[in-house]
Amino acid sequence: MIYNPESVLRAVEECDRLGRTEFLQKYGFSPAKSYHLIHNGKEYDSKAIVGVAYGFENPDHGPLRAEEFSGGAATVQNWLEDLGFEVRVAAPALPDEIIEPQRYIEGAVKRISVNSYERNPEARRKCIEHFGLNCAVCGFNFRATYGELGEGYIHVHHLRDLASIGEEYEVDPIEDLRPVCPNCHAMLHRPAVTMSIEELKGIVGDSD
Ligand SMILES: [Zn+2]
Ligand SMILES: [Zn+2]
Repeated sequence: MIYNPESVLRAVEECDRLGRTEFLQKYGFSPAKSYHLIHNGKEYDSKAIVGVAYGFENPDHGPLRAEEFSGGAATVQNWLEDLGFEVRVAAPALPDEIIEPQRYIEGAVKRISVNSYERNPEARRKCIEHFGLNCAVCGFNFRATYGELGEGYIHVHHLRDLASIGEEYEVDPIEDLRPVCPNCHAMLHRPAVTMSIEELKGIVGDSD
């Protein structure tokens, strides 16, 4: 826990002075995947900044090491926001090679990539904010299995049948999107006609 915005500013200054890579190396943090402190239009690794700020506030202890505390919404984001800082939560990028579902509608006239909906960062963020980070099919949670490495990671699946989507269609993150793990996501898209979440849930439930 940190209490003084001054100490955050000192950490930011040090990061500016050393450069991001050296700053992270010096204090033993890895680059932030999801949580970024925004200050004067620049992004900073929120957990590293908090760890270093802690050291300024607690000179007897010194900077927190990465393994001494966990980053994310409940800790680092909360503390920084309480001190008046802005934290931006980035949607994790989807690996391209996993699935590239593309469907042709109206013959070959209009081609829509489902992924364009599943990648829309704002829609993803709202979907995850509403449904959380557990797979809607099997309940898998990356944080629970992979610890900090998995923090904030999940795919987002688009439910709507593409044939029903017109040109001006705007994705509704809560109606149309669900968080799913990459395994379930791949299975949903495996049949020629994308399976429903309920259908796949039935299969997952039956398999053991
Ligand atoms: Zn799953
Ligand atoms: Zn999908």
